[in-house]
Amino acid sequence: MALVACPTGSIGTTEQHDAHIGIDAFPEQIADHIYYCGFNAESSFGAWSYLVVRPESEGGNVLIDSPRFATQLVKKVEAMGGVRTMFLTHKDDIADHRRFAERFGCTRIMHAGDGAQRLGIENVINGNDSVQIDQDLVAIPVPGHTRGHLVLLYQNKFLFTGDHLAWSPNRNSLIAFRSACWYSWTEQTRSMEKLLNYDFEWVLPGHGRIHHASRAQMREQLERCVDWMKMR
Ligand SMILES: [Zn+2]
Repeated sequence: MALVACPTGSIGTTEQHDAHIGIDAFPEQIADHIYYCGFNAESSFGAWSYLVVRPESEGGNVLIDSPRFATQLVKKVEAMGGVRTMFLTHKDDIADHRRFAERFGCTRIMHAGDGAQRLGIENVINGNDSVQIDQDLVAIPVPGHTRGHLVLLYQNKFLFTGDHLAWSPNRNSLIAFRSACWYSWTEQTRSMEKLLNYDFEWVLPGHGRIHHASRAQMREQLERCVDWMKMR
């Protein structure tokens, strides 16, 4: 699985069938109908991408950020219902978005602050107000890491956080990446405080670790993260 996920193809095997086991493992189920895509793209700095599988009647599948446009992955995604919406958290992690859009005819969502117009994105989000995309999806602007960073809240339970927020097993806490903040740490801190207005149980980042906790625990951890950010 590591071999298939590695964005730079740096891992080798001695037996070919090992690779097939890896390929078949992706997309890998994380919870309910949430999958980790694997096939991380070097052009997205190896960021993780996710697939939310939903019936067409509920709005169809959502691909969050862009994996490599690898034939094996594309075939499996197609068998899982294709992609109706492609949500791009920010400009670093868009990789093969054009090829996915062409292949699946999906609507891409991205913020104007990260150059969405220039990229020909179909649904451009402006300003700082949250946007209800459909019954279960909310796009929340969280400027900081980049000017137009967005996070995606699904069913008030799963928060896809891009490079805004992640779990650190070393610090045993939620963190933001102080040394990889390209726009404004002050803004990012403000954006993090804004997330206290929402309920969620999962943090699903582009980099760093996934975290799962109760809503109350998550809120407490997020409050601690905001306090930590204010001291940096
Ligand atoms: Zn980034």
